[in-house]
Amino acid sequence: MIDLLPDKTKEGYNLVFEYAFLAGCAFVIFHEIGHQIQKKEELAKYFDIPVHCSADTNTNRLKSENNADLISMKIVKKMFGEDDAINWLAYSGILLCLLTLAVGNTNPTMETDHPSIQDRYRQAKNFVIQSYGTNANSEIFLRTDAVAKLLTCVTKWPVDNWWENV
Ligand SMILES: [Zn+2]
Repeated sequence: MIDLLPDKTKEGYNLVFEYAFLAGCAFVIFHEIGHQIQKKEELAKYFDIPVHCSADTNTNRLKSENNADLISMKIVKKMFGEDDAINWLAYSGILLCLLTLAVGNTNPTMETDHPSIQDRYRQAKNFVIQSYGTNANSEIFLRTDAVAKLLTCVTKWPVDNWWENV
């Protein structure tokens, strides 16, 4: 279908899919690696993350998930370059990845042994604002909000617009 578009538009869509997809995949992979990184004092310090306490409580599990997301986002930010024109696509990829996780979630606002998707999305949006600046509202969130609205039509999320104003 994308082949039917004019060349310039096609290039634009290809860029979006390529970089947002790559960043989303990288975010998932480095989240898992982030769980290991936070256990090593030197690495945790490098990523400016408090060393993860190994005591197996739900509070620690939630903290570990949030730390893994933070580490992963810092790596993705480095991978795609802070000043590169494609960085907004990378940040969009992170947010789209979390929205995708929410598709299979019956309630994105509910905390389990993992933080709620809404909490993770909030942390990611804060990271994007800190990294990209307030232009993120018009250049990134405007577009990811549009995707979330479309997803609302195909999911049965019990809380409308959980992704807004987080
Ligand atoms: Zn995890």
